[in-house]
Amino acid sequence: MKKRKFIKFLTFGLSLPFVFPQAFAKEIKKVVKPNSEWKKILTNEQYYILREEGTERSFTSFLNDEKREGEYLCAGCKTPLFNSKMKYDSGTGWPSFFEHHPNVIATKLDFKLVLPRTEYHCVVCEGHHGHVFNDGPQPTGKRYCNNGTSLTFLPKVKVIS
Ligand SMILES: [Zn+2]
Repeated sequence: MKKRKFIKFLTFGLSLPFVFPQAFAKEIKKVVKPNSEWKKILTNEQYYILREEGTERSFTSFLNDEKREGEYLCAGCKTPLFNSKMKYDSGTGWPSFFEHHPNVIATKLDFKLVLPRTEYHCVVCEGHHGHVFNDGPQPTGKRYCNNGTSLTFLPKVKVIS
């Protein structure tokens, strides 16, 4: 039994670089596609958020209430951006995180509203995900306010022996 469990664990561990190649790559390999290609891959809602910097209505994403262990991937290129340990309930109606995986998110100023906000996007496909604010919990004090539509949740696989 013990040996079998170990082998399963090992297989899962070895397969990680294939499941998440971007997370294990030494350099970020950008995913660049024309908009016509993105339109084929993404749903209309995903395209609106990721490629047109849109925002979903609050309290509409089922990921708001997602509490299982797992990874939150960019819906565009499947790069892991957050995990369940980084998520918290901000009460805003959007999935919120106080931290993100290293080297996967970049920010820029967004002047769509009167006061500038800091927008962030996935560095791999440059898909827009949300805005970051300074009212998050410790230890970072950050709140990454993410559209649920632009994320794909991958629950952690439990080894059953
Ligand atoms: Zn991406």
